Amino acid sequence: MSHGHKIVLTADKTLMSSYNGSMFIGFAACFPRVLPKWLYTRVFCPPQNKWSDNVDFAPAGLRKIEAALVESGIPQNEIFVAHPDKLSKAIDHTTRVVGVTTSDPLGLGPASSTFSSLLRKEPYTAYFFRSLMKNPVLRASGAKVIVGGPGAWQLASEHTRRSLGIDCLVEGEGEQVAPPLFKDALAGNAIPTRVEGTTVPVDKIPMSLNPTINGNVEISRGCGRGCDFCSPNMRTVRHIPLERVLEEVRMNLKVGDRITLHAEDVLRYKAKGMVPDRTAVAELFEKVCGMCDNVCMSHLALSSALACPKLIEDISHFTGADGGKFYVYGQTGIETGSPALVSRHMKGKAKPFEPEKWSEVVEESFKLLADNHWVPAATLVMGLPGERAQDVDMTIELIRNIRPYKSLIVPLFFVPLGQMKENEFFRAEAMMPEHWVLLAECIEHDFHWVPILMEELFSQNRLSAAKASALKLASWYMQRRVKDNIAIMKEGKDPRDYAPPLAMDPSAFERPRAEA
Ligand code: SF4
Repeated sequence: MSHGHKIVLTADKTLMSSYNGSMFIGFAACFPRVLPKWLYTRVFCPPQNKWSDNVDFAPAGLRKIEAALVESGIPQNEIFVAHPDKLSKAIDHTTRVVGVTTSDPLGLGPASSTFSSLLRKEPYTAYFFRSLMKNPVLRASGAKVIVGGPGAWQLASEHTRRSLGIDCLVEGEGEQVAPPLFKDALAGNAIPTRVEGTTVPVDKIPMSLNPTINGNVEISRGCGRGCDFCSPNMRTVRHIPLERVLEEVRMNLKVGDRITLHAEDVLRYKAKGMVPDRTAVAELFEKVCGMCDNVCMSHLALSSALACPKLIEDISHFTGADGGKFYVYGQTGIETGSPALVSRHMKGKAKPFEPEKWSEVVEESFKLLADNHWVPAATLVMGLPGERAQDVDMTIELIRNIRPYKSLIVPLFFVPLGQMKENEFFRAEAMMPEHWVLLAECIEHDFHWVPILMEELFSQNRLSAAKASALKLASWYMQRRVKDNIAIMKEGKDPRDYAPPLAMDPSAFERPRAEA
């Protein structure tokens, strides 16, 4: 029994999972509630261990907060990191603070709001966050509830925070602001209802003390390309020194068997500008791959790949992908095929190339990555302010052109963030006929490549037979639900006009209002 912890850190079920070993599957955790719950849980966010109350692996952001609290003098044994299903074993009358990290608490993030708007169903992320916050053990404990994480912006409304029982919301980077907050809450002092995080200098970013989901190790923080629709937190780039990265890798490998190098653009680790530092990134991969056979990355920029093709070869060599047995996976952003929209909203995206060349950069980069056995999962943004039918047509053409390259394409609706936060959410109801055609193209692209990717994962023994069957079943179920609609979409029509809509709570799309 693990009672007696003054601080409990947790997250909703969609974040406290190793996603069957694939961050791509984790991305799909923001699906709306169209799959049966048992199938969704088994495929997208199975719990990690059944026997222990403490979790073996936690989201990287939660581990950083845990480390910051310990570094500030709070004893490690007063902090307990719990799976949301095990809160009754973690929280009791001695618990003073519960810290929750969240990525998508109301389902308003780009992926979940897109899928749920299209399918008129609440996203699982919102459902499980609400379940966590309404947990009777948490509610009865009297502990102060502090919520932070990348989805904190969705909780800006005081009404929402009150209704979910949140005492304090931390927006932005939390490592410097969390320790005094938690200490005040431990001492029974009043805490503010909202706190703005600070940009943490690289030497103040604490090292994680315990393993993260899928061995996620942060190598850089921030991006610096400055897209209008991106979070302001991304402005300042900081690179974690190699020795510290390797120490976190070693710590993770004591329990886990895979490493995910995390940055907004892994290829720009230690780069001084927009061209990768080939020596620094190659050294990073050589060292990490020397310690672990299963190394992947979170994100890469297509322009960085094309700016340094030799680095792509290097990484394929170090990861073993050049033998053709494995693939290097990573998420990336295409966003649009329109040079006008790139120039208007994301000038830095193509650097060191010109924004007008963006479509060529995407195509050539996809070819380069495919030649080197990489599989990018790329996002698009539909409904960017000022997007015209001809802009969407250019994106359609681009998606057709990259069809031969093994990849996934995920079209997302515009979400007002960063400098564009005063704009409106884009919704399915605002889709032009061209958007429906684009959506159909993306679905066809993915239906072409997903079965091939699953077969390969299975044949590489990276997936057990049971998990492969569950994945195939989920894929078959989704294809069955969508396939008939593709022909309608290709005519530029909304397929939902031809089928009875599924129920949805429209308040899920109410934009949180900032407080005065
Ligand atoms: S490239 Fe990606 S992470 Fe960087 S500013 Fe643009 S949207 Fe944000």
